Amino acid sequence: MRLIFAKKMGFCSGVSRAISLAQSIPTRDNKKRTVTTPVYTLGPLIHNPQEVERLERLGVKAISRLNQIKTGTLIVPSHGLPQSILKKIDKMQLKLIDATCPFVKRAQLLAKNLYERGYHVVIVGQKSHPEVISLFSFANGEASVVETPQDVEKIKTNKKIGVISQTTQSAENFQKIVKRLKIKIKKLKIHNTICKETSQRQKEAKGLAEKADLMVVIGGKNSANTNRLYNICKKITRAYHVESPEELRPSWFSKRGVVGITAGTSTPEWIIKSIVNRVRSPHLTRDSKCQKNTNIP
Ligand code: SF4
Repeated sequence: MRLIFAKKMGFCSGVSRAISLAQSIPTRDNKKRTVTTPVYTLGPLIHNPQEVERLERLGVKAISRLNQIKTGTLIVPSHGLPQSILKKIDKMQLKLIDATCPFVKRAQLLAKNLYERGYHVVIVGQKSHPEVISLFSFANGEASVVETPQDVEKIKTNKKIGVISQTTQSAENFQKIVKRLKIKIKKLKIHNTICKETSQRQKEAKGLAEKADLMVVIGGKNSANTNRLYNICKKITRAYHVESPEELRPSWFSKRGVVGITAGTSTPEWIIKSIVNRVRSPHLTRDSKCQKNTNIP
């Protein structure tokens, strides 16, 4: 069996920044082994449950509602928050640390700007995703969220249309939706806000899947970009999406062949390493070799 790895996998710049910000806040008295300063994130800081648990052990706690806290430090997650919540936080006795990824921030500002210039904003993305909920609020809650090309037919507006995207959308889906919009709408302003790090990883995952007999995609089950990588890979070859080493099954590796490994932008290196070690372990595989000139964690 031969292992091949994506050149870029694991934390992107936005997630690294959010983690560094969270870790830079002193939360503990290490001598007394106690948490001294309460630090919170509204929703998980990033979409990786194992990393969120690790942060919790360092004193960074994810809460689900603002009324759970009165004081302390609150970190805005990398995928942003709705404007109404940001306004509420402003009025509270909280110290705010904004870990919104700069690429998400750009998409938020474009949504606001398009709305203010009289456009009906169309967001290409997953309705329930926190980033899309935040973008929707920046378009004054008057946007259309489009998940598939078919959804374009549901848009009802006489206004000119401005299009933006969830930063982790698949480039292919975005292009298909834009193509459909171009047929229907005359006045169209398009901002492709898919972040480069996402598209690069998607491109690499596709290339890797084309060479592999089996793909292991590592990352949170709640991570939009990891799910995207998994969906890309499974269209091409046999693929599995795993969060932790325990999920790997020896039967997946019973046939000799090429195993490709990639990971989402919110997957920490320590999880990638633990999964790669398990793939290489004799219980799972025999005779595993690694391809030269690849990024082997
Ligand atoms: S995937 Fe892109 S937009 Fe999302 S946090 Fe990472 S760098 Fe930012």
